[in-house]
This record gives sequence, structure tokens and C-alpha cells, in this order.
Amino acid sequence: MGKWRLFISCPACYNSTKSYWYHKDCGGDLYIFEDCYLQCDKCYCYYFILDWLFSCEDHRTEYRQVNVQKLIRAMCILADMYEIPFFTYKVMQNKIEDEAKKRGII
Ligand SMILES: [Zn+2]
Ligand SMILES: [Zn+2]
Repeated sequence: MGKWRLFISCPACYNSTKSYWYHKDCGGDLYIFEDCYLQCDKCYCYYFILDWLFSCEDHRTEYRQVNVQKLIRAMCILADMYEIPFFTYKVMQNKIEDEAKKRGII
């Protein structure tokens, strides 16, 4: 299964600066897998992307839920950067949208 170092703008606000992401609890680097789970490469915790909370320099102390539209835009840019095949990207996007609909957050 493909995995890529998470390098996206904050998916929880309108800050457009791209950055690498770290796991707050242990400082490990975060990777995104083809199944849309994020894994920390230090403690190996592994959760679906919508189950994470994000904090960026615009809300340093506030950990926010993902904004689904923003996340999908950021994922599109990520897919382009890593040359993720279009089919793989579409499957990832559908999975995020399906799960977001189930949760009533889209
Ligand atoms: Zn943010
Ligand atoms: Zn960790």
C-alpha cells in the first residue's frame, strides 16, 4: 500500500501554507496511506484521517476537526506533488467523502 509523508496546508482552517505534520503526543512524522489513514512513524498509531485533530500556526493551541472541502483540495495538491495515480487519488477522495457523509460533516 502506498504511503506518503503528509505535506499539506492545514485541513482544519483557511491557512494555505503547506507544511509537514507531526504527531503532538510524540513528535513523530505523519504519513498518509492509500486507505486514508495517518500513521505516526514513531509511536505507530494509525487512525483514519477524519479521526485526527489539527493545529497550525493560526490556531496553535486549538486542535480542530478537518474541514472536508479543504482537506480534499489539499489532497489534490498532495497527489499532484507525489504523482499519485489519478485512480488511486479518486479512491482516496471517495473514501473521505463517503465517510464524511456518514458522519454528517459534509
Ligand atoms: Zn489551521
Ligand atoms: Zn506518535
